[in-house]
Amino acid sequence: MFDNLSDKLDNALHLLKGHGQITEVNVAETLKEVRRALVDADVNYKIAKTFTDTVKEKALGQNVLKTLKPGDLMVKIVKDELTELMGGDAEGLDLSGHPSIILMSGLQGSGKTTFSGKLANFLKKKKAKNPLLVAGDVYRPAAIDQLHVVGEQIDVEVFSDKEEKNPVKISERAIAHAKSNGFDVVIIDTAGRLAIDEVLMKEISSIHHTVKPNETLFVVDAMTGQDAVNTAKAFNDVLDYDGVVLTKLDGDTRGGAAISIKSVVDKPLKFIGTGEKMEALDVFHPSRMADRILGMGDVVSLVERAQEQYDEEEARKMQKKIAKNKFGFDDFLKQIQQVKKMGNMKDLMGMIPGAGKMMKNVDIDDDAFKGIEAIINSMTPEERQNPKLFNASRKRRIAKGSGTSVQEVNQLLKQFGQMSKMMKMMQGGGGKQLMQMMNQ
Ligand code: GDP
Repeated sequence: MFDNLSDKLDNALHLLKGHGQITEVNVAETLKEVRRALVDADVNYKIAKTFTDTVKEKALGQNVLKTLKPGDLMVKIVKDELTELMGGDAEGLDLSGHPSIILMSGLQGSGKTTFSGKLANFLKKKKAKNPLLVAGDVYRPAAIDQLHVVGEQIDVEVFSDKEEKNPVKISERAIAHAKSNGFDVVIIDTAGRLAIDEVLMKEISSIHHTVKPNETLFVVDAMTGQDAVNTAKAFNDVLDYDGVVLTKLDGDTRGGAAISIKSVVDKPLKFIGTGEKMEALDVFHPSRMADRILGMGDVVSLVERAQEQYDEEEARKMQKKIAKNKFGFDDFLKQIQQVKKMGNMKDLMGMIPGAGKMMKNVDIDDDAFKGIEAIINSMTPEERQNPKLFNASRKRRIAKGSGTSVQEVNQLLKQFGQMSKMMKMMQGGGGKQLMQMMNQ
């Protein structure tokens, strides 16, 4: 995500940092590179030009040429302007209705059904809401089934009726069902449509008019770049929605849509989808995104993701096990699964300041824990509890069963041993011992 843009902006701003003296000429040169970086990221030329003009004006206004660290000041101005360009402050969802109604719109394949599920999951976990998903795509039975699969995955009820061919009626009945069954948010997934399809646009306008949603969201695929921005504009002209959801940002190496959609459509970007899993959803925070684009990481989001996966009950159980020296491979597996839920590794590394840049050319497997999981899964329940059982023949069996080598099994056993020791020390408040061990 944003790899190329980050690199190019870094180079452009470095140009200025490297100079002993800052002049109007090299400020102009730097900004030319910044503009080129934005255009290469698929930001519309006019937007890129306005952006660099504003930065220049601010830079000269603050007399960047005379300040002690003009390079740093320039980075700050670029960061602030990027934040502004992407919408300034983060915009939340209006959840004031009883129930609150959220209507999805967008092209087919943009990620509406996946996002509907992610949003239900997010509201349930983060906002302690009781959401109801509604299958409003009356044209594709498979779409209804897909929503049911998603609903089962996140344990959220799905309202559907394959016999009913009128999405307005389905939505009305779903809302009545929500009211009488204690659901406080109704998320209506709809069929994909093109802005030029008058019949289907009338249909969604009619759902909109009837159910009077608190939020109508336009879901669009980030990988389509400027097309995403154009479609967002065309839809907005007809539907006048409240916010945009940009999906598949994990596969978008350029990032142009995320940067420019707000300034073209004048509707806030509210959420970004960063993967196929139900947890791969982030509230869009312009300033955090600007930090990420400028290679400064996004520790706040990283901590939030960790908190989302943190289960207090489970943590207490783990602590007891560690204290009693009973932390086994099963527990280790559970921890790995929790980390995996936070998102893909490369994405997570990108949130650590400086790490994203360092890891740029390192190929991190999407499933970095595959080998470890396979090894643990090949162990017997007794072995998982008691690492002392491992002899040469058991190790050979496990390597064979997991498609790894004895060397890899040994490595995992060694790491596990070290980790257990360290956890025990932390528990005992043995900071000194830990320091000693680390200094060895
Ligand atoms: P719909 O037709 O608009 O309902 O789109 P779907 O929700 O069926 O999504 C279309 C495809 O995009 C599916 O294969 C999803 O798994 C995938 N998808 C949706 N959101 C994301 C995302 O944020 N990242 C990635 N990589 N894939 C996504």
